[in-house]
Amino acid sequence: MLRPVSALTKSALVLVLFAALNVSVTFGQSRWGQTATNGSGLGLGDATEITWGFVSDGTAITPAYSGESSDASDLVSFLDMNLGSGAGGSDLTNRPWFSVFDSIFDRWDAVSGLSFSYEANDSGQRIDNTISPRGQLGVVADVRIAGHSIDGQTGSNTLAYNYFPDHGDMVIDTDNVSFYSNSSNNYLGLRNVLAHEFGHGMGLPHVTANDSRQLMEAFVNTTFDGPQIDDIHQAQVRYGDNWEENGGNDTFSVATDLGIFDGTEILIGTDANMGSTVVEVDPDQVDFISIDNGTDVDFLKITLDSIYDMSFALDMVGPTYDHDGDSSYSLANQSDLDMVLLASDGTTVLGDSNNAGLGVSEQIDMILEAGTYYVQILGNNDATQFYQFGASGFSAVPEPGSMVALGVLGALLVGRRRRIVR
Ligand SMILES: [Zn+2]
Repeated sequence: MLRPVSALTKSALVLVLFAALNVSVTFGQSRWGQTATNGSGLGLGDATEITWGFVSDGTAITPAYSGESSDASDLVSFLDMNLGSGAGGSDLTNRPWFSVFDSIFDRWDAVSGLSFSYEANDSGQRIDNTISPRGQLGVVADVRIAGHSIDGQTGSNTLAYNYFPDHGDMVIDTDNVSFYSNSSNNYLGLRNVLAHEFGHGMGLPHVTANDSRQLMEAFVNTTFDGPQIDDIHQAQVRYGDNWEENGGNDTFSVATDLGIFDGTEILIGTDANMGSTVVEVDPDQVDFISIDNGTDVDFLKITLDSIYDMSFALDMVGPTYDHDGDSSYSLANQSDLDMVLLASDGTTVLGDSNNAGLGVSEQIDMILEAGTYYVQILGNNDATQFYQFGASGFSAVPEPGSMVALGVLGALLVGRRRRIVR
């Protein structure tokens, strides 16, 4: 059975199980422009705080699909019955299933510039895609989760659907008792549905791929756990990486502090460096960093405990795979990144590396005295580029006449080639 496209309501999306469904949708905004916490004016690449919560049972839901019931939400009683109610009560955070939902938001938080908080209050307003509800702190969540009967649990089967930003609400099909009550791998089926649906809730469309290895493909998949590499990349396109949260790292005064360099290599951004083919992302991997567009700049702070002959290396990383019909889509070839080494004042350029071309690594080698330095990373293309950054070095013993002086002289010469301070 193929669901007629005409039955799809604007900005509604669907996740189906075991059935072909050629979904054509009108996309909403590609990301949140306004939230209860941040207010309005949010743009591409901005870190964003989103509140989420549950509607009370009995809250009305306007059907989005032909055949969907017009019943009020029964999600809480459905979850209590099938996943356990614990001690019950009005505080849903005590329910055994609360942590399943919470873990999904924690996971998206860990791999993007999104952060989440649970909103215990709800306005009781109808779930309806013809209105544009706004979250309000202490009153109603940005993202409201509801559930009722959509289309049973057999045949062409919708498990849930979710509205795009700035609507964001989720409706779960509470007919799907056997699917959602399956506790295997800590409710992996439910968790991947929730992670997928909230992918739509943050603005991600379906991706077509021929490898069935991305969360945002239209069919539920329990061979992996949570967002995969394309999903994480798409999240960072919209919200930047995790370091963009809490004021970000776009100036030297708020640089990400990589700590003390004592001769042991420092390496960051390693989890996106999976080689040329897609490797499964495990749910404990969090080291995905990027320059999210042509205006994003990352500042890294590194403090040397002694004099070293240092090498700073910047690699553009990510696999090549099938993505929306492009069989050679390469995450390592999204933006041409440059790297600048700055002195302790955060502005004096000691060296830079700006090799031209997508996927071309950058490197700066220099003898540096003990002290604090900053590394500035920026992109030449308006695209989101995963990178890996490494700092390595070996002790440099000053010779009579001072290698340090030579190092500084070298830095000044290199620094004259090009000065980039953005
Ligand atoms: Zn979907």
